[in-house]
This record gives sequence, C-alpha cells and structure tokens, in this order.
Amino acid sequence: MNLRKAISQHIEMDDFFTGGFTLKGKTAPSEPQEKKDSAAAAQTAGELEKIADEVRQCRKCDLGSLRTNAVPGEGNPNARILFVGEGPGADEDAQGRPFVGRAGQLLNKIIEACGLKRSDVFIGNILKCRPPENRDPRPNEIISCLPYLQRQIELINPEIIVALGAHAARTLLNTNKSIGQLRGQFHEYYAGLDRPPIKLMATYHTAYLLRNYSQQNRRRVWEDMKKVLAELGLPIPEHDRK
Ligand code: URA
Repeated sequence: MNLRKAISQHIEMDDFFTGGFTLKGKTAPSEPQEKKDSAAAAQTAGELEKIADEVRQCRKCDLGSLRTNAVPGEGNPNARILFVGEGPGADEDAQGRPFVGRAGQLLNKIIEACGLKRSDVFIGNILKCRPPENRDPRPNEIISCLPYLQRQIELINPEIIVALGAHAARTLLNTNKSIGQLRGQFHEYYAGLDRPPIKLMATYHTAYLLRNYSQQNRRRVWEDMKKVLAELGLPIPEHDRK
C-alpha cells in the first residue's frame, strides 16, 4: 500500500471514531449504572490488585524472564464491559499497562465513541507478558496465563466481555472458528458452573483494524459495539456517516 493511501485511511478512521456522533433521544449517562456498592467495589479492587501482584511475580512460562514489565490489566472493578486483547506489545511492555500503543489509542477512541470513558471499563489480555517480536501466543503460554484472566473476570463479573481479535475470542470460547465467523454476535462465556454465562461479543482487534483498514471493517467494529451498547441499555450514538 502506498504511504499516501495509508495516511488517508488512518485519518479517515480517526475522524470516524473521534467525531460526527450525536445522541438522539436520551443523553449519555455521566456515570454508567453501578453494579456494586462502593464497599464491594473497593473489595474487588483489592482482590484485583492481589492478582496483579501475582502476575508481576509470575515465572510460569518463559515470557516471564523476557518481559520488561508484566501487564496485568487495569480499569474499573465495577465495569459493565471488559475488553480482552491478545497480549502486550512493545509499548505495553515498556509501561506495564494494557492498550497504550497505537492499537490502544484506537481502542480509547472507540470507547469514547460509545459515550464511555476508559475508566468506565476494564481492559485485560489473554497473555500478561509480551511475546518476543509480538509473535502469536503459544498454547503453553495461554495455559499458564489464562487462570489470571479467568479470576479477573470472575471478580469483575462484567455484563459483557468484548473479545478483541481471534486469539481472545477463540481462547475464551474454546473454539477454532475464525474471527470472521465469531464476530458480530453474542456468545456465552462460562465463568463457572454455578454462575450464569456472561455475554461475549467478538470483534476485530484494533491492531487488525489499523493494519487492514477498510470502511467495511471499521463499520463492522462499530456495528458490533452498537450491539454491546444496546444490550446494556445504553444510548447509541449515531454517526453522520454510515
Ligand atoms: N494488543 C493487545 O492485544 N493487547 C495490548 O495490551 C496491546 C495491544
């Protein structure tokens, strides 16, 4: 792809997720409805911090000795939406925080386009440490790391999990289907037999969207997010472009 085309595509996407939204009818709530009272949320925050400490000490797989920083995940212990990515990249490894590089900036814009703030949601990953050269996660790494995310999900108990990309969606749904087959519909994530399943929406990873920009892919991600907002009973911003 030539540079001029790549730049204009990025501007197009940036522009789409940054402006042009109006809320028809209802106005966006300044705070999404709280699921837990403040004491329960503080207790969850404490438990999440214990998991984060374990992750920072973790040496269950080789990635533990290769990382600069582990990236346990961060966000609202009371989140109604939990985003799950694949694993940290170079920026996340350097800062110890999820989705802070280019893919993260796009995720922030999508969250804001939804009428939400990053601090409303929780953001985690399947892998808590960066695979060298951002290679795909290996099965043994996923097996070692997944229990941390499972415990985070159990504690936060979000109403919806948004799985970003094939690795997150396939791992959480225990399937080999492609992201093209999985995205756009709600699936069920089982956090335990004694609990009701959590709705899971799979969509394209923001890094994929950056690499494979097309209006169609951008539209698909926005359609998926609108389904999430509708399911939560949140107002759906309308864009002046389709
Ligand atoms: N990509 C991911 O999957 N996770 C991050 O935290 C950043 C980029």
